[in-house]
Amino acid sequence: MTESFESVAIVGAGLAGASAAGTLREAGFDGRIRLIGAETHLPYERPPLSKDFLGGGVSKEQLLVHPAEAYAERDIELVLGRAATRLIPGERAIELEGGERVAADRVLLCTGVRPRTVGVRGEQLNGVHYLRDLEHAEALREVVKRGVPVVVAGEGFIGSEVASTLAEQGADVTLLMGDDLPMKLALGVEAAGWLLEQHRSHGVKVLPQSPLKAIHGFDQVEGVEVADGTVLPAGAVVIGIGSVPVADLAIEAGLEVGDGVVVDVTCRTSIPEIYAAGDLARFPSQAFNRQLRVEHWQNAQKQAVHAVRSMLGHDEPYDEIPWAWSEQHGKRWEIAGLPMLGNDVVRTGDPDSDEGALWVFSDEGRVQGAVAVNRRRELRAVLRAMAKEAAAV
Ligand SMILES: Cc1cc2nc3c(=O)[nH]c(=O)nc-3n(C[C@H](O)[C@H](O)[C@H](O)COP(=O)(O)OP(=O)(O)OC[C@H]3O[C@@H](n4cnc5c(N)ncnc54)[C@H](O)[C@@H]3O)c2cc1C
Repeated sequence: MTESFESVAIVGAGLAGASAAGTLREAGFDGRIRLIGAETHLPYERPPLSKDFLGGGVSKEQLLVHPAEAYAERDIELVLGRAATRLIPGERAIELEGGERVAADRVLLCTGVRPRTVGVRGEQLNGVHYLRDLEHAEALREVVKRGVPVVVAGEGFIGSEVASTLAEQGADVTLLMGDDLPMKLALGVEAAGWLLEQHRSHGVKVLPQSPLKAIHGFDQVEGVEVADGTVLPAGAVVIGIGSVPVADLAIEAGLEVGDGVVVDVTCRTSIPEIYAAGDLARFPSQAFNRQLRVEHWQNAQKQAVHAVRSMLGHDEPYDEIPWAWSEQHGKRWEIAGLPMLGNDVVRTGDPDSDEGALWVFSDEGRVQGAVAVNRRRELRAVLRAMAKEAAAV
């Protein structure tokens, strides 16, 4: 039986935090809910930051996870613009910036990730950008207005999307890749090869195997040096080379951490009153028989809901098959499961046609994942089949 508790502190007011707070109240919890966020904003959606918001097609208000009044209506106390600085599990409390302590019979950690920094000469110059928060996207919008050449370093989700959106805005954009194809690990070789052609045909200058070596300039970025010594003119650089879990609080509190905060199938950490969800959490996936940490929207939303349900006494295992989307050059990409380089890949359709294409990845006859361009229905069917197979194991 679950021990009753009176207060929940949700640390991290992003998508996972906001989803958890709403679910907690909807599920009938009538104690205190505090949603604590280091950012001053109401919880907002990040996916548009590299797409429609960066492109100017979406306003700040449209990014909100819930409208402001939804928190008041559900009696969720928002503590914004103040980071949690310490978990004190022995006293069932947490400490906030400024030293205030608040009661926390249960804690849900949803502190997400931060961009990995590049660590090259010139990284401190004005004009070097990362993209995680709203302010980062606003600063990048200003770069587009200035019309300077932009170099994007990193060919993962963020780098590839930013290059696409900036090209759509008419910017002079170069994409520096460490590897030979954009988003190769997520899309596989053939689909990534097609994305490379998409970038090129939409005006992105793509340089394969050209990692960033140094950034040149006095106060402001003036150029970017790549591994072979070539210096490209640049007024701004966007770094998209991955991210690291924001696990400082968890480490200090002695929670088990290893590329994320380690949780069990019910989203509980190694201290039973503390849960974790979203980009931060590393969970045991039964479907893939391995530990996963997933940095995608759907996982943050569903895992947060799951963590709250566990807190309230449900004990079903969390075992979502990962799913993500991306939008680039007017095409919608979807990725289900864990496509792997080295899998057998079968394509149906043609990405250049209106019907789009679907790539299905399998290993020894077992489907591992799928990638689709404009083929939502078929990808969903693969996802459902994978979930059914996982449930049957
Ligand atoms: C530019 C961009 C584009 C994306 N596009 C897509 C997409 O197309 N498709 C997709 O599936 N996914 C996409 N994602 C990923 C998706 O947005 C994330 O998976 C999701 O936001 C994770 O939610 P979260 O709540 O776990 O973390 P976050 O949204 O990062 O929220 C964590 C919050 O915790 C706060 N915090 C950290 N430490 C503390 C502390 N000590 N005290 C209080 N607060 C703290 C942070 O300030 C932050 O506000 C994108 C992400 C980015 C950045």
